Amino acid sequence: MKWYSWLTPHYKELVKLYRTNKAHHALLLNCPVPVGEALLAQALAHWLMCTNRQKERICHQCHNCKMMQAGTHPDWHIIKPIEGKQLLGIESIRLLTDTLFRHAQQDGNKLIWLPQIELLTEAAANALLKTLEEPPLNCFFILSCHNLQQVPATLRSRCLIWTISAPDESYSLQWLKHNLPKQTDEHLISALRIYSGSPIQSLTMLQSDKIKDKYQFIQNIGQALKQKNIVLLLSSLKESKNMDYLFWMITLWSDAIKWGSNTRNRIINVDCQQIVQQLAEDIPALKLHQQYQLLLTTHRQCKQVSGLNTTLILTDVFCRLIVS
Ligand SMILES: [Zn+2]
Repeated sequence: MKWYSWLTPHYKELVKLYRTNKAHHALLLNCPVPVGEALLAQALAHWLMCTNRQKERICHQCHNCKMMQAGTHPDWHIIKPIEGKQLLGIESIRLLTDTLFRHAQQDGNKLIWLPQIELLTEAAANALLKTLEEPPLNCFFILSCHNLQQVPATLRSRCLIWTISAPDESYSLQWLKHNLPKQTDEHLISALRIYSGSPIQSLTMLQSDKIKDKYQFIQNIGQALKQKNIVLLLSSLKESKNMDYLFWMITLWSDAIKWGSNTRNRIINVDCQQIVQQLAEDIPALKLHQQYQLLLTTHRQCKQVSGLNTTLILTDVFCRLIVS
């Protein structure tokens, strides 16, 4: 099974809680950034299912182990939004509850993995709350969220909340180097900071051409600013990446602000330091802040309102930032 080394201490500590009966039947993994929590949930479920486990180890031999390995265990339930839907509706929770209140298929533990519970509709969250308040016997829930504040307080109060932060940057950097020995440290650190320290998301970005796209775009922004000319910049853009462009500009402007305020060691675009310095030196601090606000507002609007012509909006932003 695929595994991430930073999950191991969490696995060991959580298993210890289950072994000593200090765990809760509802565990909420609070992961501000993706850290591979689905693997951890699966490993914990597997341990809880194994009928011949030794301390934190599973046997790999029993019937339950074999079914878990094959992904065919009838009492291992994974609940996710139906494809095409963003939120998880009440039907999914009702269906789950019906199944749980019947006898366990294998007469043992029942395990439920419910990731990103921020995606529950209000009705679904209420239905889940009832089940958590009066759970069926031998039932273990493993839930996760990326934003704990968006989880209803009533649900939170029914769970053992277990926070898994992103690994240290130096640790993640070594892990990324091991996976991508040809990438420069600057690209690796930049990707890590773009994704708030998530090594998994950084790896995905680095394995695609996205990090190079970001690098090239920021170089083009630097040129456009120098020459007060957006024509070259516009001709190199792809509509499908408009939201990325806006986000990368936010990181660049926030870096320029950091550059001017002595927090240079935390800039995101460490692979484009010259451009960051150029912005910080060429644009007065007050104007930088105003432009940064404009980028934030524009990005938020484009995210919240569907059907906007983002190319037109981006062109307008370029005119206001670069030509004005
Ligand atoms: Zn086993």
